[in-house]
Amino acid sequence: MVRAFRVYDTLAGEVRPFVPRVAPRIGLFVCGVTPYAEAHIGHGRTAITFDVVARALRRWGYRVLYVQNVTNLDDRLIVRGLAEGRDPLELAEFHFQGWLRAMDQLEARSVNVYPFATDYLPEIIEQISALLGRGFAYAVDGDVYYSVAKFPDYGRLSGQRVEALRPGARIEVDPKKRAPEDFALWKTAKPGEPAWPSPWGPGRPGWHIEDTAITARLLGNQYDLHGGGTDLKFPHHEAEIAQAEGASGQKPLVNYWMHAGMLQMHGEKMAKSVGNVIGLDETIRRVGAEVLRFYYLNAHYRSPLNYEEGKSLEEAREGLATLAAPYRRLREEILRGGLTRPGRELPPEVARTATALPHRLDGILAEDFQTREAIAALYGWGRTLGEWGSKLETLSGAALVTLGAPYRWATEVLGLFPERTSGKAPPEFASLVQVALEARSRARARGDFGEADHIRQALLKAGIVLEDHSTETRWQWKRDGSG
Ligand SMILES: [Zn+2]
Repeated sequence: MVRAFRVYDTLAGEVRPFVPRVAPRIGLFVCGVTPYAEAHIGHGRTAITFDVVARALRRWGYRVLYVQNVTNLDDRLIVRGLAEGRDPLELAEFHFQGWLRAMDQLEARSVNVYPFATDYLPEIIEQISALLGRGFAYAVDGDVYYSVAKFPDYGRLSGQRVEALRPGARIEVDPKKRAPEDFALWKTAKPGEPAWPSPWGPGRPGWHIEDTAITARLLGNQYDLHGGGTDLKFPHHEAEIAQAEGASGQKPLVNYWMHAGMLQMHGEKMAKSVGNVIGLDETIRRVGAEVLRFYYLNAHYRSPLNYEEGKSLEEAREGLATLAAPYRRLREEILRGGLTRPGRELPPEVARTATALPHRLDGILAEDFQTREAIAALYGWGRTLGEWGSKLETLSGAALVTLGAPYRWATEVLGLFPERTSGKAPPEFASLVQVALEARSRARARGDFGEADHIRQALLKAGIVLEDHSTETRWQWKRDGSG
């Protein structure tokens, strides 16, 4: 049996019960990155939002096929590639590898498939041909455009009227288009640009068509759930609906649309084009992946999240430390052999609360993924656990396991308090690294972050990579020192 849940569906404009097309399967597609430069922390927010959605659905018994596309060719990649003297496809591969490393550090490993746009050229050409055949598109001199006037539902998702979407008089409209709101499905290649053969001449796909060609192939003409940042509602997701429903004649394309709120800085969306970006890698290095993950999740996913330099992540660090401290104490007790030790059992009401809490937390997430409320409930449990303090050593192994259950739920669903993984260094290394880590944590405790960073850098030179988590600092030894 799967757990029932409800989700805010953008198209319906309300929270409604989720009914999979073919239970227990759920097809999930989320718009992924265009890896033309290092990702910023705004990208990370959307990724972590849907990582928790996928984790929760799997815990509740659903079989989730989670597809996140990679736009490995677009105008920005071509411009960047030219500026850096690099092949744009190779540039995309390079930055995508960086994205994967960041996702790994952030404990976000729930995606099943990362399809690259350029691996789906046959599907893209097939879908454009279908749109031409059904009268939704027109070809002009090697370009193909979607004729928005042919699709009356265009604008429904974002709640906008087509007339309002027309660019102002100052913006130059492509003279090949029949109407300014029409968008490109296929673009003829300029000299020197990557190009693929097509019935309309050599060229490359427009941005929107890759998503629907990929999902038609991997998830079918209709599927369950589409996610992305709220900035993609228009025109990207409107275009997806128009393309897929126009080409297949089947509607709706998806049964539920989920949109994650924007990460903002000074009231504006964080974006390269605005120039207010904070790098994802640099933030992970500075505060640790777990603090960043906690920062994202300690807010409702649909609300804008306002980033304040020198404040937001520092508050997250403190909040996570408070939440983690009693659990760290519990883990230490377990590491000291607490699991096999005889001892007292818990008072029945405490045991009942601990056992019931994971189900209560599931219930909170089952109402539109309220991660902030779940974290608030965990804080309550942390206070109870904290009261056991030194009395933990009098408890039986079973009692310790019971007390940890709500935190293990958080590890499984929220991806916090990850389990330890060991470094691959020889054993004599470990004790030396431990000494350095202790010195570093003393430096951090007294607020000497310069010294702490100095120790990190020194270890890095020896090939030892640190990763800060709430309950411990993990480290890995990279023999070649490549990090
Ligand atoms: Zn997309």
